Amino acid sequence: MDLRLGEKYEAFRSEVRAFLREHWPLRGADAQLAPERQEKLFRERALARGYVYRGFPRLYGGSEQAPDALEDMILDQEFRTAGAPRDIRGIGPAMLAPTLLDCGSEEQRIRFIPPTLRGDLRWCQGYSEPGAGSDLAALSSRAVLDGDSWRIDGHKIWTSEAQSADYMFGLFRTEPDAPKHAGISYLLIDMRSKGIEVRPLRQMTGGADFNEVFFSDVRIPADSIVGRRGEGWKVSRSTLKHERNLIGDPRYLRNSFDSLVELARRSQRNGRPALEDSSVRQRLAEIEGYVCSQEYSGQRQFSAALRGQELATLLPILMNKLYSTDAMQRITRLAFDLLGGDGLVAPVAEEYGMASQLRTSGGWVAQYMFAIANSIAGGASNIQRNIIGERGLGLPRDPRAK
Ligand SMILES: Cc1cc2nc3c(=O)[nH]c(=O)nc-3n(C[C@H](O)[C@H](O)[C@H](O)COP(=O)(O)OP(=O)(O)OC[C@H]3O[C@@H](n4cnc5c(N)ncnc54)[C@H](O)[C@@H]3O)c2cc1C
Repeated sequence: MDLRLGEKYEAFRSEVRAFLREHWPLRGADAQLAPERQEKLFRERALARGYVYRGFPRLYGGSEQAPDALEDMILDQEFRTAGAPRDIRGIGPAMLAPTLLDCGSEEQRIRFIPPTLRGDLRWCQGYSEPGAGSDLAALSSRAVLDGDSWRIDGHKIWTSEAQSADYMFGLFRTEPDAPKHAGISYLLIDMRSKGIEVRPLRQMTGGADFNEVFFSDVRIPADSIVGRRGEGWKVSRSTLKHERNLIGDPRYLRNSFDSLVELARRSQRNGRPALEDSSVRQRLAEIEGYVCSQEYSGQRQFSAALRGQELATLLPILMNKLYSTDAMQRITRLAFDLLGGDGLVAPVAEEYGMASQLRTSGGWVAQYMFAIANSIAGGASNIQRNIIGERGLGLPRDPRAK
């Protein structure tokens, strides 16, 4: 099998490498700036070269490149090797911005996408409710159109980052008499609006970046709706697709795997580096198999999307989410074994989900706990299996709740 990419792509790789050699890490006075400022500056330069936010038009703050799966793969590899920041990931840039591209009005795209991509506008996702998780269409928080504003009352739960978000994109019942999946609208809500109360929920990591959000008589402008009234379910499908892509992002898995190998190098087994232990090596090899299959599946899915095969991409997205979260559990389980007693006494890192935290024992402990939660977020594994079974394998449908 010949896995060479050909002259055109090797030239692209050299060009990317030269750019990174020149621009990352920053030099001179730029290197004295705060880390966040440095990342921002670098991203601006990478954007001008067409290396970040490639799928977004220039009008909305992207670099508007023709889709190219191989160029994208090369950028991933080279930026990762250089430790350089690429697109900001997270709820806003990875989920809301592409949804607005798919379904938003021109005014909404121009107003919201550029500051979201720059990281200046932070978002939270208001889908789940106490009685509506896997069965999301059972949601009951209401929005009533009253003159030129929506009046909102209700209760959301598990809202990640609500405590620091500027805006929420959420689902609300606007036609209470319509059938379950109809009558839901997708609204953009300023989190500083009067009548919103955010209450933190403590997690097993000790952190509290999860919240309950209560709405009582909250007023937002009538044009805060994305898509048509009563068609929020359709819009939410777009966001969910991007959410599962975010959670199933193979880059995240690869970074975590690299950190795991580093941990095995630093840890000791019988007086020698654990990386030399045959049982550890075997487990690492097995896990890397999963990581590679995620990477290849991601590339396959991307090429299918480029050919406009929307249907063919749905199942791989579900599978990506399911298998990535499973692989992440395998990674963190091995990390925990390598930490041994250290893992039991290490203070849990406050932030998790960040590859940079995976250098400390506490970072790994937090990640171990987060890996369990991540199998639930964005649709629990059982639900992913159900949909894959029904739509992918043609198995009989699961009896649905009425
Ligand atoms: C880390 C994390 C972050 C989150 N962030 C957000 C957020 O920002 N915004 C937001 O809106 N929500 C968020 N959520 C909520 C998440 O979307 C829900 O937890 C998820 O959809 C599952 O819903 P539930 O918790 O109500 O569980 P339930 O739906 O009550 O499910 C409980 C269990 O029953 C199983 N089950 C349910 N129905 C079936 C079925 N038909 N067949 C087989 N098994 C079934 C599930 O798989 C699960 O194991 C987050 C969750 C986590 C863990």
